[in-house]
Amino acid sequence: MEWEKVTSSELYEMVREGVCIIPIGSLEKHGEHLPLGNDALIAHKIALMAAEVEPVVVLPPLFFTYTKEMKNLTGAISIETDILLSFLENLCDEVSRNGFKKIILLNCHGGNRNILHVFLQHITDRGKDYAVYLPPIFLAPEVIKELRETSETGHACEIETSISLYLFPELCKMDRVPGGFSSSRKDYDVSPARTSIDWYASYPNAYVGDAKFASAEKGRRIVEAQVERLVDLIRKIKRDNKVLGKLREFNEKLREPKPREGS
Ligand SMILES: [Zn+2]
Repeated sequence: MEWEKVTSSELYEMVREGVCIIPIGSLEKHGEHLPLGNDALIAHKIALMAAEVEPVVVLPPLFFTYTKEMKNLTGAISIETDILLSFLENLCDEVSRNGFKKIILLNCHGGNRNILHVFLQHITDRGKDYAVYLPPIFLAPEVIKELRETSETGHACEIETSISLYLFPELCKMDRVPGGFSSSRKDYDVSPARTSIDWYASYPNAYVGDAKFASAEKGRRIVEAQVERLVDLIRKIKRDNKVLGKLREFNEKLREPKPREGS
């Protein structure tokens, strides 16, 4: 199931499953207690757990992505926008060249959300012979809502720390969780407009809420729900026989002469 661990002929056998997952995260500060590669580690583990249930190939996780808003903190590696877009296209082209025509971008880093949406648009008119599917970060938000005890979550928080505690407790340094509650520090209000510095203004230490409320048990419930939904989604994507056809139809129309008005 893991691209880097199987042989060439074993991978060839997997082509018939048709689907490849690219787990995507980041390298950036996650409070004082979680590892820099937290999001990619989570995405990778969840992809592998789903692949145990529904056969699918999983690429090594992508750590080098987009985290400009945290470049002020030690540990961030942020790839420039144009390079990352080209890289993602190059990577998906290569996955497709190996026979996998359905690619799931399993992203667990909030800072990648916008660029991944741009990427989906970016490849629309490029005549690709593959389809890319982008699930939301949380596939079972109702489970999080039910378990959540703190009022603010979002980064290295009660929820994210719970997931990490369940998946890789050995990398979580819970004795370093700061005391007390950390709420957003943003001291201006231009809502509903957004600005490019909102994240830094809100969370200068890459930490929000209170991770002391985290537990491995909460993490287990969130992860199990997430894996279950991902398995359902992989099955749905395997059944999908429309998206790629629609993409081809669109790209053919780009080359067709347009009818004149009134004709
Ligand atoms: Zn994270």
